[in-house]
Amino acid sequence: MATKEYPVVWLQGAGCTGCSISVLNAVSPRIQNLLLDEVVPGHHLNMLFNATIMAGEGEAVIEVLKDTETERKGGYILVVEGAIPTAADGLYGSIGERGGRHLTIEQSVAELGANALVAIAIGTCAAYGGIPAGKPNPTQCKGVKELFDEKGIDTLVVNLPGCPVHPDWFTGTVSVIMFSGLDAVKLDNVGRPELFYGRLIHENCPRRADFDKGRFAEKLGDQGCLYKLGCKGHYTNADCPIRQWNNGVSWCIKAGSPCLGCVEPEFPDGMSPIYEIVTFEDLK
Ligand code: SF4
Ligand code: SF4
Repeated sequence: MATKEYPVVWLQGAGCTGCSISVLNAVSPRIQNLLLDEVVPGHHLNMLFNATIMAGEGEAVIEVLKDTETERKGGYILVVEGAIPTAADGLYGSIGERGGRHLTIEQSVAELGANALVAIAIGTCAAYGGIPAGKPNPTQCKGVKELFDEKGIDTLVVNLPGCPVHPDWFTGTVSVIMFSGLDAVKLDNVGRPELFYGRLIHENCPRRADFDKGRFAEKLGDQGCLYKLGCKGHYTNADCPIRQWNNGVSWCIKAGSPCLGCVEPEFPDGMSPIYEIVTFEDLK
């Protein structure tokens, strides 16, 4: 049986490249398995463009974007990392030049997004604006879905928020898409796969018994529930307590830090002050 190829164009806007780094640090499967092998039998991801890891540069790689859009129409996966600056016609976010003019991330996401099989907004910045869209947001950064809605683009957007994204959330999502198709990716009301974001941190937290019994940490390093130190786990949806980070070594609360709510659309403004109690009512 011939291997089915899924071309991937990975664009980077206003962000820190942390989500690329997180995915590159994937352990099982490793990134080389993801890019070179058939992680799902008979299906292969073909990374055509990612400024952090590709060897090419200049006009030749910019041409790849147009070629993909026209020649692979409806068959490629667009991954967007980082928020999209939209002030000044997008000029705060240039990814290169085309025909002697800046090619903005706003223009590229719109053009490639309109013809993609699916757009994956990787990390909280691409999903909801994240830190670059924090107040006062002078560059008018926004997430992919908001941009698509404004421009009338109806391509499905799968949000994989996280600051950074967990590598399994990316690998798992593309594997489901390759193996079972887009309909198999069940999304919650803010566009995240329920598979990874379907449960509250608070439900599975190992400090939950302390919360229920009223045993609260008063300062960092104390035993007990971190609620009084600003933990946002009681309204944050992700599988961090079960999956953990760095190949299952640890995660925020296990390391003694409150959950910052990094996967939620309100992050970071609505989750601030980071080390103070913010109630669910405060978010409304
Ligand atoms: S540490 Fe946070 S997530 Fe864990 S029980 Fe306390 S409030 Fe809930
Ligand atoms: S525990 Fe909270 S802050 Fe830490 S990665 Fe998970 S959602 Fe983000």
